[in-house]
Amino acid sequence: MFIGHFGPASFFARRALPLWHCFLAVQVIDYIFFALIFLGFEHVEILPDATAVNHFHTIHIGYSHSLLSAVLLSVLAFFAYQRTNPAAGRSGALLIGALVFSHWLLDLVAHLPDLPLWPHGPVVGLGLWAFFWPSILVESALFSVGALVFFALNRDRATRWTLPAILLLIGVALALVWVGFTGAAPRDVQSGLAAAPLVLLMLTGLAYLIDRTLKAAIR
Ligand SMILES: [Zn+2]
Repeated sequence: MFIGHFGPASFFARRALPLWHCFLAVQVIDYIFFALIFLGFEHVEILPDATAVNHFHTIHIGYSHSLLSAVLLSVLAFFAYQRTNPAAGRSGALLIGALVFSHWLLDLVAHLPDLPLWPHGPVVGLGLWAFFWPSILVESALFSVGALVFFALNRDRATRWTLPAILLLIGVALALVWVGFTGAAPRDVQSGLAAAPLVLLMLTGLAYLIDRTLKAAIR
């Protein structure tokens, strides 16, 4: 999954947790994936129309994207967040851990079977990405509904800038889904994936700005 991961981040962002922390949490697994690809520990290859929405065929992504890794990373995120953000409490840290794990569950829906249960173990994947329009609709709806639910939950501390900032975030995200899912096959893996972490960080930056528009903003 691509930007759909941010849906749960918005749905479950609470007063104790800044939205941008939740945006970081849901993509921890992909940030590790990008780092391991660029370092040469994980491998994908360009295969035109490998799925209906991208041109990457998985060779090995078991360190970042196995079920076992997702569980371990979620537990690690829980302890790290509890230590670095004690004000969020145990429930806040639990939510961060759950959001880290939500990445694997949504990837399970989207990926063709290439998610191992453990590194080099049997692979699973329900294959939403085999279908173009369902992929666009599910990713767009998850993101947009999540962002609007976030607005509804935080309405009492919204300022006049909050809704425009959220609508801007949705507009940028929907444009990114379209551009990302309709692009031609890239020249090579590195150039094809280079923009992705920057795009995710840019959306996280917009989430930070949304946090700043709220009264008694948590920073
Ligand atoms: Zn992923």
